[in-house]
Amino acid sequence: MTAHGSGGGAGRPAGERRAAGGFETLAIHAGQDPDPRTGAVVPPIYQVSTYAQDGVGGLREGYEYSRTANPTRTALEECLATLEGGARAVAFASGMAAEDCLLRTVCAPGDHVLIPHDAYGGTYRLFDKVLSRWQVSYRPVHLADSRAVRVALAERPVRVVWVETPTNPLLSIVDITALVQACREAGALLVVDNTFASPYLQNPLALGADAVVHSTTKYLGGHSDVVGGAVVVADPALGERLAFLQNATGGVAAPFDAWLTLRGIRTLAVRMDRHSRNASRVAEMLARHPAVSGVLYPGLPGHPGHEVAAKQMRGFGGMVAFRVRGGEDAAVAVCGRTRVFILGESLGGVESLIEHPARMTHASATGSPLEVPGDLVRLSVGIETADDLLEDLRQALPS
Ligand code: PLP
Repeated sequence: MTAHGSGGGAGRPAGERRAAGGFETLAIHAGQDPDPRTGAVVPPIYQVSTYAQDGVGGLREGYEYSRTANPTRTALEECLATLEGGARAVAFASGMAAEDCLLRTVCAPGDHVLIPHDAYGGTYRLFDKVLSRWQVSYRPVHLADSRAVRVALAERPVRVVWVETPTNPLLSIVDITALVQACREAGALLVVDNTFASPYLQNPLALGADAVVHSTTKYLGGHSDVVGGAVVVADPALGERLAFLQNATGGVAAPFDAWLTLRGIRTLAVRMDRHSRNASRVAEMLARHPAVSGVLYPGLPGHPGHEVAAKQMRGFGGMVAFRVRGGEDAAVAVCGRTRVFILGESLGGVESLIEHPARMTHASATGSPLEVPGDLVRLSVGIETADDLLEDLRQALPS
């Protein structure tokens, strides 16, 4: 069988023509050489399903069928592998497709996974409602508490420790380096969902993680105009197995989606700097506001993960959560009163968003150990004028 049926081997191998330089240079050039035929400085959108062959099996540059590989997707995958410092990246139709494919690549029936006690609701749902049916069990653990992790790892064999840092929506910070050691000793794979930080702020593979997952829908795409996901792995053999399962099951990033994501990535560094700066001003204002009972932002010195975040991140990111005095109704009312912050799910775009996790993004965790507090509001702080954002929140909060 050719790659159309087998997957994994088609397309230009990731990393073959890696650009060199600093992060900003790589974000613009890695995987994105000018088109050899026309000189176009932006990779073309190869909106195509199949490729002419020079005689049976005579593939040009390895492309045969776009589920297996597509040049626009390859460009994105090369760029992502470079930015995360991985051996290989595989780009998916969504973050959830990426998570599902990675977990079904590395887990078998009977395996056990540790997940964050405050994991993203969709990740929790994947474990609780889907993978449980394939006899993959999970346990929520406070992963920032290294003693709790070691106890859980000692209790029974663990195949994967699934980390988010910062977490969605409670912005907890997990010390990746400390977990690497614990996972190695226990023979568990360490997977980090790096969606909130993006590769600009944090590179888990460089700290020793085995795989990184992204919802590229968020900061990587950066403009709320595309849904996508990616897995980046340190081990090329794992990359092959992942690409095989992706080809077998088909959750690939479409060419236009890959192109939009790449376009977003080129400005990732400047956007993340501004997101981080605006978010820290918002967090500082909220921390002083009488209607707010607590602010969760790793950039605040009082945040329990502040020192770890300062050690493993290049900045603290654009996500802020806070608790509103007066409980759930008061929090819901704040979400309905903002004018610049748009009430909506998702995050990581240039525009500021506000949402109520308990009733929106994390509603699937209601009644579970991962239920989020009703008085919690989550902000994705955009790159608008900071004073406008502060003013908007002040008028939305009760005086
Ligand atoms: N991981 C995190 C941390 C997320 O916030 C999300 C979505 O909000 C996902 C994964 C899933 O990504 P997608 O919505 O692209 O499927």
